[in-house]
This record gives sequence, structure tokens and C-alpha cells, in this order.
Amino acid sequence: MKSGKQRRHEIKQKRTERAEALKRELGGKAFLEAKALSSTVVQADHSELVHNNTYGSFPDYYHDVVFNCVECGENSLWTSKSQKWWYEIAKGSIWSTASRCSSCRKLRREAKEEQKKHMEEMARKEPHPNEQFFRSK
Ligand SMILES: [Zn+2]
Repeated sequence: MKSGKQRRHEIKQKRTERAEALKRELGGKAFLEAKALSSTVVQADHSELVHNNTYGSFPDYYHDVVFNCVECGENSLWTSKSQKWWYEIAKGSIWSTASRCSSCRKLRREAKEEQKKHMEEMARKEPHPNEQFFRSK
């Protein structure tokens, strides 16, 4: 007799194997498209979308979409959940869509933080002697 835990583990492993096989068979994009098709849709909350100044209709549901990252060109999946977050919590424009994959987004965020740190350091620095001279005039 196998324990329930063991069985669950086996099922999980089989599922991962199947997904991996499908990935190999279809290649990246088709795999993502298949994944998007089988994904669960998330219901949209229109009352959270009114920040969009549009007379057009809002979506009733979000579903996963496949897109090309503008930075690295990789196929990436924008999940229904993150769409809901973007449009309803972050109040993103209904016309905006994902343009960067998660790794490029991460890199950009890091670069921005670096720049911010740099700017703060510059602001802390003593003004140039000439600047002081002109300011006191
Ligand atoms: Zn990318």
C-alpha cells in the first residue's frame, strides 16, 4: 500500500514530466499558448476599472496571454492573475499590456534602484565651490 502523500507526489511528478515533454515537443511559444488556453480565467471587477476614462466596455474576464518581451524577445506569459492585479490594484490603463518578461522587469527594477541610489548620493554631496559662490551672490 502506498501512502496518500506518496501518491500525491507521484501524480505531481507525472504532471511535471508531461508538461516538460509537451514543452520539448511544441517549443517555447506553443507551449505557453497551450498553457494559456488551459489556464483559469479570472473574473474582472468593473467597479475597480472605472479609473479608466473610457466609454468602451471593460473585459468581463482575464485570461493568460502570450507576448513577446520587447527587451529580449523571449515569449512570456502574462497570467490572468497578474492582469487583474495590474488593471484593478495597480490601476494600470486598460490599454496597457505587459511588454517585458519577468527577468527583464527585474533587471530594470534593479537598474532603477541603482540610479536612485546614485542620485541620492549626488544630492548629499557638498555643492561645488563655484556653485556656492554664485548662490551667495
Ligand atoms: Zn525579456
